[in-house]
Amino acid sequence: MEDKGLLIVVSGPAGVGKGTLCKRLFAECGDLEYSISVTTRAPRPGETEGKEYYFRSRDQFLKMVENNEFLEWAEFCGNLYGTPRFHVESVLKRNKTILLEIDMQGAKIVKKAFPDGVFIFIVPPSLEELAERLYGRGTETPEVMQRRLAQAVLEMKNMKDYDYAVENDEIGTAVEKLKSIMIAEKCRVSSK
Ligand code: 5GP
Repeated sequence: MEDKGLLIVVSGPAGVGKGTLCKRLFAECGDLEYSISVTTRAPRPGETEGKEYYFRSRDQFLKMVENNEFLEWAEFCGNLYGTPRFHVESVLKRNKTILLEIDMQGAKIVKKAFPDGVFIFIVPPSLEELAERLYGRGTETPEVMQRRLAQAVLEMKNMKDYDYAVENDEIGTAVEKLKSIMIAEKCRVSSK
């Protein structure tokens, strides 16, 4: 049987631990590539150009929009984020799996272009815990954190648009759930 490429979208509120989950997933799954987004947000301490993101000015970003270089893009809490089209398309052509960690607005656009994609929402154990993690990170101002928390509440109300919800209460268990979803989707016969 020919190997089947998958497009996987992971979304979830800021602070839910998507980044850590995805890193663990990569460490444990060989056949998986990550779509590095472009953003106008300033790098956080420890973030490197071309690893977490491609960091660009607003002007540079808008030029890329003009040149149709994005599969999707969106404004999130005052910054622009976009998925470069080229990498996603080339991975899928090779029948490999590509993972996009993007927000809900972006996920909606991708769903129109790739209705057979797998859409996963990462859920925090509770809003209280999410707020604790967000504040604990200490990388944003109180205003930005307030906006991110408000955005989280909104996103959680709309998670029914996703195929799967995975609670990130214990990282090992959540990673196992993500791996199981990937295995099941690779075995899927009927389209959605
Ligand atoms: P952060 O600034 O915390 O890295 O990301 C903020 C939000 O932007 C997160 O929800 C993240 O998933 C989302 N995001 C990251 N890259 C992209 C992208 O390329 N497109 C869209 N639509 N959202 C993205």
